[in-house]
Amino acid sequence: MVVVGVLSLQGDFLEHIQLLATMSNVKPKHVKMPRDLSDVDALIIPGGESTTIGRLMKIKGLDKAVVDFAREGRPVMGTCAGAILLAKSVVDRVVGKVNQPILELMDIAVVRNAFGRQRESFETNVLVEGLGSIKVVFIRAPAIIDAWGDAKIISYIDYPDIGRVGAVAVQRNMLAVVFHPEISGDTKLYEYLISMSRR
Ligand code: GLN
Repeated sequence: MVVVGVLSLQGDFLEHIQLLATMSNVKPKHVKMPRDLSDVDALIIPGGESTTIGRLMKIKGLDKAVVDFAREGRPVMGTCAGAILLAKSVVDRVVGKVNQPILELMDIAVVRNAFGRQRESFETNVLVEGLGSIKVVFIRAPAIIDAWGDAKIISYIDYPDIGRVGAVAVQRNMLAVVFHPEISGDTKLYEYLISMSRR
C-alpha cells in the first residue's frame, strides 16, 4: 500500500483524494499539519490559489516540512497552483513581479495566469514524454517558461498568442504540472508519481 498525501489547506484537494481512492494499492491521506506527513510516501500540492495556499503553509509550518519532505527524496507533485509553489521563479502575466511565499524547490520559471483568466479555461489533450496523451483541464493555469539544472520540461502546449510553453516539468523526485489531471480523471501522472516513491 502506498500512502499518497494531498495538501488539504485550500483548493481542489478533494478531487485528488477521490481520484486516488479509485486506484488500487493507494491510500489517500489529507495533509493539514506537518505531523500528517510522517507516514506519507508521496505528496500532491493541489490547484487553488497559490497565494492563499503558500500563506497557509507558512502559518502551519508546512512550508519547511514540505521542503524537508522533498529534500529527503520523497516524491512531490504540484498541480496548477501547486506547480507555482514548487517553482524558483514566479511572475504574473498581468502584474509582473509577485510577492507571495513559494517553496523554491524546482529549477523552473513560471508565469501565473499565462493563459488568461477564468473564461479562457479549457480542456485539451497533452502529450507527456513517457506517458503518452492525457486529457486534462487548464483553469487559470500557469505556464512553465524555463527549466535549468536537472529540471526538464516533458510536455509542451501550443497556445494562441503565447506560443509553445511547458506544461509538465520533472526534476528528480518532483513534478510540476500546470493543468488539472484530477478533473478529467486520467491516473497516468499519479502512477508516475507513485513509481518515483519505489525507486
Ligand atoms: N491562477 C491560480 C494561481 O495563480 C492557479 C489556478 C489553479 O490552480 N487552477 O494561483
